[in-house]
Amino acid sequence: MAVISPNAPTAELQALDAAHHLHPFTHGAGLRDKGARVITRAEGVWLTDSEGERILDAMAGLWCVNVGYGRKELAAAAARQMEELPYYNTFFQTTHVPAIQLAAKLAELAPGDLNHVFFASSGSEANDTNIRLVRTYWAEKGEPQRDVIIGRWNGYHGSSVGSGSLGGMKGMHAQGGMPIPGIHHIDQPDWWSEGGDMSPEDFGLARARALEAAIERIGPDRVGAFIAEPVQGAGGVIVAPETYWPEVQRIVDKYGILLIADEVICGFGRTGNWFGSQTLGVSPHIMTVAKGLSSGYQPIGGSIVNDEVAAVISGTEFNHGYTYSGHPVACAVALENLRILEEEGVVDRVREETGPYLKARFEELADHPLVGEAKIVGMMGSIALTPDKATRAPFAADAGTAGYICRERCFANNLVMRHVGDRMIVSPPLVISKEEIDTLIERARRSLDEAHAQLTEQGLM
Ligand code: PMP
Repeated sequence: MAVISPNAPTAELQALDAAHHLHPFTHGAGLRDKGARVITRAEGVWLTDSEGERILDAMAGLWCVNVGYGRKELAAAAARQMEELPYYNTFFQTTHVPAIQLAAKLAELAPGDLNHVFFASSGSEANDTNIRLVRTYWAEKGEPQRDVIIGRWNGYHGSSVGSGSLGGMKGMHAQGGMPIPGIHHIDQPDWWSEGGDMSPEDFGLARARALEAAIERIGPDRVGAFIAEPVQGAGGVIVAPETYWPEVQRIVDKYGILLIADEVICGFGRTGNWFGSQTLGVSPHIMTVAKGLSSGYQPIGGSIVNDEVAAVISGTEFNHGYTYSGHPVACAVALENLRILEEEGVVDRVREETGPYLKARFEELADHPLVGEAKIVGMMGSIALTPDKATRAPFAADAGTAGYICRERCFANNLVMRHVGDRMIVSPPLVISKEEIDTLIERARRSLDEAHAQLTEQGLM
C-alpha cells in the first residue's frame, strides 16, 4: 500500500487532499483552487503547519482543546486503555470500568441532581439522543403528544439530521430536508444585530418572552422541551442580555417543560465555571456535553440528565444507543482530561486570572475603527465588525464579506480566529498564558488594521 509521506511537499499533500477528501462546511471547488493549510503538529496553544509556520490557535481547534495540545498524559491514558481493553460495548447488560468511572465523575462535577449520563461520540449524537430522551420521557409520563422541542434561530446543536433540526442555521436547513417535524424555532437574543432601538435589557426580556408566546401558540400540552446554548457559539458568540436567562427559567418552570442546556462549547471551563449554566444561573434538566470533555483528544459526548428524567426513562427499555456509547478509550482519555482540568486548577484560573486578563485585553479592541462591540465570557468572545459603531450598521457588502477578509488577514498573521458573518471569534485553549494572550491581541489588532485598510481600499467601509 502506497501512502504519501508526511514530509511530502505541501503542494503534493494539498493535491491529494483535493483529489480525495471532502471537507466539512466547505465550498469544495473553492478549496481545491486554493489548497488547504496542512497542520502537522501542535503544542500548547501553538499549531505548526507543513511549511514550518507556528500559528497561535485562538479557537482551540473547534472550541475543544481546553487543556491545550501535546499533553502526554492523555496519550498515555489512551495507550494504557488500548492495551487493557480497547473496546467493549455497554449494551446487553454489560459495562466496563472507564464508563463507570467517567459517569460517576460527571455526576460529581455536574450541578444539582444531574447525576446520570448517556454516552455518545459527539455533540450531534448527544443532541439526537436528547430528542429521543425528551419524547420517550413524555410518552412514559402519559403525555406522548408533548413531542415538540423549541430551539432558536442561529442556535447550533450539531450537523446530523436531528441535531441540525434543533439548531436554527437556515443554510443547513436548506440542504437535506431539515428541520424534521416537531421542532420549532424562536428568535435569538442577539441585541447587536436585532435589538434595534430597544435597550439590551428590554430586548433580552422580549426575546425570552418569545418562548412563552411560542408555547402558547403551539399549545402548552404539546411542548416537551426548550434547547439552547448558554452562550451561542457557532452563531457568533452571542451573549444574551442579563435579563434573558432568568426570564427563560421562569417560563420553563411555569410550563413544566424540560430545559436542555447545550454545553458542548460552554462546558468544562470555557465560561469560567465547569458549566455555562452555572455562569448564567440556570438549572437545566438535561445538559449536552462533548468537545472539552476530552479536550478533543478523543471523540466523546453525552447527555447528562437529572434524577427525575433518569427515573422515568429507566421505567422502559430505551431503544437507542451507539456502538461507541461509552467507548473505553474515549472514556479513559476524558477522565484523565478532567483530572488535569481539576488538579491543575484550570477552571479556577480562567475564572479568576487569565479570563479577566483576556477580557480586559479583548475589550480594548473595541476602540478599533472597524469594531463595534467586543463581548467575552470566560474564554469565549467575539467582536462585531461594522462600518458605523454608532448605528451598529451592517456593511453594504454581503454579510460575511468583511469577516472573511479579516479572517484571512488573521491567517496570514499566523493567528487562527474564526469569522461568523461579520463577527470575529476567539475561544483559545484554557491554558493560554498572559504572554500568549498579549500575542493574540497584538496579532488580532494588526489583522484588523490590515482588514480596515483593505475594506477602505475596496470602498466597503
Ligand atoms: N452543540 C454545540 C453547542 C456545538 O457547538 C457543537 C459543535 N460545534 C455541537 C453541538 C455538535 O457537536 P459535534 O460537532 O461534536 O457533533
